[in-house]
Amino acid sequence: MKKTIIFIILIIFLCFLIPIIFTQRFETAPVLSENKKPQELQVDSTYDYNDFTTIKLLHTASNSIEEVNLDEYLCNVVSAEIPASYNMEALKAQAVVARTYTIYTIIKNKGKHGNADICDSSSCCQAWISKENRLEKWNEDVRTEYWNKIVEAVNSTIGEVVTYEGEMINALYHANSGGKTEIASGVWGGGDYPYLQSVETARRRRI
Ligand SMILES: [Zn+2]
Repeated sequence: MKKTIIFIILIIFLCFLIPIIFTQRFETAPVLSENKKPQELQVDSTYDYNDFTTIKLLHTASNSIEEVNLDEYLCNVVSAEIPASYNMEALKAQAVVARTYTIYTIIKNKGKHGNADICDSSSCCQAWISKENRLEKWNEDVRTEYWNKIVEAVNSTIGEVVTYEGEMINALYHANSGGKTEIASGVWGGGDYPYLQSVETARRRRI
């Protein structure tokens, strides 16, 4: 008798459980409409620029925090990430991507570095080099020209960030490409981003 009751309870339980399983499967695997095309990436200034006038930068070598102007910080980042001899448009693109990545990281990594917003390590947050060290690495005859190029790239793009569907993107970037990029999750693991898919890239031409 007991076995029969247990069997009936089990049947009733399964009657509820099976629909739940199937319902959840369909809910967690949405079918994308073929008509829904992904939106384009855009460069705009929709975020509140005043919220990020200054940032707290953690210097990992000295474990000290420095409060710096965002655009001055970006000059140090851009000069660490891309050769200043590159075309001005490339430097501007780097400035926009670095600004986007900085703000996205500050929002996403809140609390990761204690009171600091972001650190100066390329293996953790984003590369940074002091102006003094940067100038030392350049030949004396191009120092002023190169630094002015970096400053112009940052200043001429002030407030500009990359967005996708109105949201600031996770602007992961790399120094070069062999003709085709890798899907972001294939490199970093974790979630996928509709705007970081594998694409053909133009090969660098010798000028
Ligand atoms: Zn960091």
